[in-house]
Amino acid sequence: MNLTNYHSHTPFCDGRSTIEEFISTAILWGFSSYGVSPHSPLPIKSSCNMRADRVCEYIGEMNKLKKKYEGQIEIYTGMEIDFLGDEWNASTPYFRDMDLDYRIASVHFIPNQKGEFFDIDGSSSKFKAIIDSHYEGDIRYVVEKYFESMINMINCGGYDFIGHADKISMNASAYKNGITSSKWYCDIINDYFNFIANKHVIVEINTKAFETKGFLFPNTQHFNLLKRLNIPIVVNSDAHIHSYIKKGYDATFALLRDAGFKYIMQLKSGKWIENPICNL
Ligand SMILES: [Zn+2]
Ligand SMILES: [Zn+2]
Repeated sequence: MNLTNYHSHTPFCDGRSTIEEFISTAILWGFSSYGVSPHSPLPIKSSCNMRADRVCEYIGEMNKLKKKYEGQIEIYTGMEIDFLGDEWNASTPYFRDMDLDYRIASVHFIPNQKGEFFDIDGSSSKFKAIIDSHYEGDIRYVVEKYFESMINMINCGGYDFIGHADKISMNASAYKNGITSSKWYCDIINDYFNFIANKHVIVEINTKAFETKGFLFPNTQHFNLLKRLNIPIVVNSDAHIHSYIKKGYDATFALLRDAGFKYIMQLKSGKWIENPICNL
């Protein structure tokens, strides 16, 4: 199969390896296409997100590297765009007018009961402190708000695929053991993936935390549901370091094959096409 990854972070946001380190590693390891996806600029404070005044420099650097490595690999200029509501998402003119090849839509910030946004994507200890001090310790509120934000984001459009569709599951499970087995959580997940299937949205299978924490996003327990609903998937490593660009891929492909998946989506000459899954 063709190896691909469309989710990686460089020092333009919170990543550690340069764009060229990612691309040269991808060429060395036989990737057919590769995409970089800085965390989008934001109208609120965040140390993880790219600054708006560096977007031109980022796109210029990508264009330079596309020329340099032409014929060796397909390179795509992406962005992981945060959803902060109707005014700030992948469908708004600011992002639509950017010279990007593809857009990932993700939720990392959700509003608390007073409408203030906080990052719920940090470490589990940071998450616990934030939930206790800013969300009245109401973990169910936070989980419900996360999926509500994902659904609103999906309705807004403007993206190629959605990032780490149930990322909240990891921190919510650390906050309250067994939360993802509770009936209300399972009901949300079931309605959520049915909604996604009806919208014909491509869903990322994010492998970033699989080797370290045992979580895929969406989690392995939902693979059969995703398959039954015929949801198209793209497998990405969400790498912040170049040596991690296929981290977790072997095990993930095996799990996807077990669940009956035969294809993952890939970009080829700028179009999303089906790519057969086979052994690496
Ligand atoms: Zn993300
Ligand atoms: Zn990311």
